Amino acid sequence: MKLAILGGGQLGRMIGLAAVPLGVECRFLDPSPAAGAAAVGELHIGELDDVAAIAQLVDGCDAITYEWEGVPAKALEPFVDTHFVAPSLRALAASQDRVTEKTLAKALGLGTAPWRAVGTLNELREALADLGAPAILKTRSGGYDGKGQVRVDDLDDVATAWSVLQAGGPLILEGFVDFAREVSVIGCRARDGEMVVWPVAENRHDQGILRESRVPADSDTQARADALVRGLLNELDYVGVLCVELFDVGGDLLVTEFAPRVHNSGHWTIEGALTSQFENHVRAVLGLPLGVCDLAAGPTAMLNCVGRLPDAHDALRIPGAHLHDYGKSPRSGRKVGHLTLVAPDEETLEERLVAARAVIRDDG
Ligand code: AMP
Repeated sequence: MKLAILGGGQLGRMIGLAAVPLGVECRFLDPSPAAGAAAVGELHIGELDDVAAIAQLVDGCDAITYEWEGVPAKALEPFVDTHFVAPSLRALAASQDRVTEKTLAKALGLGTAPWRAVGTLNELREALADLGAPAILKTRSGGYDGKGQVRVDDLDDVATAWSVLQAGGPLILEGFVDFAREVSVIGCRARDGEMVVWPVAENRHDQGILRESRVPADSDTQARADALVRGLLNELDYVGVLCVELFDVGGDLLVTEFAPRVHNSGHWTIEGALTSQFENHVRAVLGLPLGVCDLAAGPTAMLNCVGRLPDAHDALRIPGAHLHDYGKSPRSGRKVGHLTLVAPDEETLEERLVAARAVIRDDG
């Protein structure tokens, strides 16, 4: 079978790696000739909104998917009648606008941070008066890793925040959520409606960038998050992997955002789960049965390598450690790899985490 993937970054590369044992051939479209997915499949160079380039890519493929939610849904529209495109363009479009995303969450009875769409500086002032300070001004589309957002602490910050972000398109003001922790849940739905959900990850961000994910979470959080992601998967008649990022506020889970793709907080599944998010995504979009998602060995953690990689000898000396080098050139704030730690129990995982944090050399 052949799978066309829009985007050839590290997510595409990890999908491609998971596809190899299944005998699935992946083809990638990416604007950069240096795209890392070239190591695991045929790389087509082209813009992701170039319909002619997409037509060439998908010719002879059994399904089309994407590894980045910024893919313009319009560019994929011409192919939905001739190819199986998953996740659906409805899911893609919903995830591209924070307002649509939050409206969908509300329709499903799910909580979010309080928010107001803001179109003018005056509306921003009114929204801040409504929601109270502090609040976070965000672009409705295109933000990632904390980019496209500015914290607003009082009325004096409003004009600066507005001028920084308004060029990025329509904005949304979100009330600041004083969360106890951040978690994410990843689920996968097959073409026939079968669903699986991985253990919930507890995530630590710094400067808007995910630094560490750890599983499993407590059983109550697992049960709530499981129901929540299944509800979304069904509502969207979804096929493939979906990640929902959540704030835990005193046991209540508020939806922060969802990603219609494999997700950084699920990288631990490669070694830590019986079936990885990448493999199940491939299985789902190609109409194959899904694999179970239980922990493979025990508690697992993932540490991102931001800006530069740790020394491989130092990292791999830690028992249960697996290093993933994305083959990207080092740059401050850029995710260039990750380290996964699998352990037989929580205490051992804690020891390994201490050792791993000592070798991580983040820059940014
Ligand atoms: P986002 O790009 O919306 O996922 O935000 C990146 C990170 O910024 C989140 O993981 C949180 O750590 C923080 N953040 C975003 N929105 C809020 C909010 N409304 N209240 C508190 N922290 C937030």
